[in-house]
Formats: sequence, C-alpha cells, structure tokens
Amino acid sequence: MSEAKTDDANVADHRADGSKVIEVLDLHKSFGDLQVLKGVDLSVRRGEVVCVIGPSGSGKSTLLRCVNLLEEPSGGRILVNGTELTDPDCDIDAARTGIGMVFQQFNLFAHLSVLDNLTIAQRKVLRRDKTEAERIARANLDRVGLADKASAMPAQLSGGQQQRAAIARALSMNPDVMLFDEPTSALDPELVGDVLGVMRGLAEEGMTMLVVTHEMQFAREVADTVLFMDGGVVVEQGDPAQVIGAPRETRTQEFLARVL
Ligand code: ADP
Ligand code: MG
Repeated sequence: MSEAKTDDANVADHRADGSKVIEVLDLHKSFGDLQVLKGVDLSVRRGEVVCVIGPSGSGKSTLLRCVNLLEEPSGGRILVNGTELTDPDCDIDAARTGIGMVFQQFNLFAHLSVLDNLTIAQRKVLRRDKTEAERIARANLDRVGLADKASAMPAQLSGGQQQRAAIARALSMNPDVMLFDEPTSALDPELVGDVLGVMRGLAEEGMTMLVVTHEMQFAREVADTVLFMDGGVVVEQGDPAQVIGAPRETRTQEFLARVL
C-alpha cells in the first residue's frame, strides 16, 4: 500500500451535500477547576473533511472525546445526524454506533487476531452473523491494504499496519462519520504515509471525517475546512489554503511558524 498522490483540487472537491452529520454548539468541558473547552462550535457536513490543528493541551482530544460522549460535556449540545446526544433521554449506545473512532494508540485487542478484532463489535453490537461479519471485515482489510493479515495477531504487525487495521475495524461498523485523533503521531516516520494514504482514499470516497492532526500537508490537501484551536476555543477556521497558507490570527501564525 503506498500513498496515492492526488492534486489538491481533486481531493478537496467539496463533496459536502449540506446536511450536518455533526453539530457541536457552545461546548464546554471542565475537569475539576480546569476549564478545557470554553465554548466550541463546530459542524461537519455529510462528505466533508474537517481537520483540527492546534498546540498540545489546547483541548483537541477532549473535543473529539466529547463528540461521542467518551467524555461528558459540562455544557453545550452535541448532535449527530440530528440526534441530540446531550439529551438525557438519548440512547447513547445506538447513536454511538454511527461514529467510528481511531485513536493515536491503535487500541487493538492484543489477544485477538486481526480478523477477530474486526468482527467482535459487528457481532456483539450490530448482531451480524459470523459469515457476514467476516465478509465485511475482509472487504475492509482489503480496503486498507491488509487483505493478507486477517489471521495475524496485532503484535505481528508494524505500527502502520496496526493503525490501518484499527481504521478497518471502525469502517466495519459502517459509520456515518469517522473521528481520528492524531492517527499517525505514534508511528515511525516511514509508516505515516501509508496511513495518510488510506485516510486520503476514504476522503475521496466521500467519507465524512473529523481529523485531529499535526500533518499540515495532509490538512492542506485533504481538508475542506481547517479549524485552529488554542486554549479551549476555536481561534480561526476556514479554507485550508487560508488558515494554513495565510492565517489571520496571531496565535495561528505563531503556531504554524513552530510546526511548518
Ligand atoms: P490536546 O489533545 O489538544 O493535546 P487534550 O484535550 O488532551 O489536549 O487536553 C487538554 C487539557 O485537558 C490538558 O491540560 C489536559 O491535561 C487536560 N485533560 C485532558 N483529559 C483530562 C482528564 N481526564 N482529567 C484531567 N485533565 C484532563
Ligand atoms: Mg490530543
């Protein structure tokens, strides 16, 4: 599997159809006295790729974890496909099945084969039978370039292969949207390209994605919208060419000067 090189114009071709898959309104999150998110607004439309950039500690992971209620918001509202997750009557487990999440640390089950990693939630949560779950798992392993690794154990894979297996696991649940939290930050540099290549392919297929990343080149080429966070707020957002190429805010300029 190698990274597909595509022109900017071909990738960020504005596939969004207008409906909001994710809507975050005035999100606040505190841990004790520490205010981490201080009123974040964000929306991701169907088919849109939104990249979140910003310094360490700015609240990016907390934002992503709040979107699928791995963290309970202290205030504000979160809607996924129009269903309000922050409504006390919401069936969170049902709503969550539509949200795929990929973490920095791949979080594969170490004691299960790659295939079993991909089928367990399909069978337990979606109640798919074994044959169907394995068919879908193999199709998604093929999609991420790991068709020959179904029977391998996670420890036998490289970091890049483990992360691609984690992506295939999330895809096997047929999510409406994929959340990625710095999916390449734990990888050796030579393995980053394959994972970004898979993500680029998903974007081209029209997958709705919310991606926290330090890969500025990826954000610039693949994102429809880039959002710069600092100190628990969205400082600046817009077209990647503007936010990364010609940032308006001093804090964005200073951050980019450090990372580019
Ligand atoms: P980022 O992903 O942008 O690096 P995080 O969302 O991980 O930022 O963290 C933002 C701030 O929230 C940091 O100061 C971090 O220490 C704090 N934080 C994150 N999770 C917790 C937690 N579970 N308990 C206490 N503080 C936390
Ligand atoms: Mg983080």
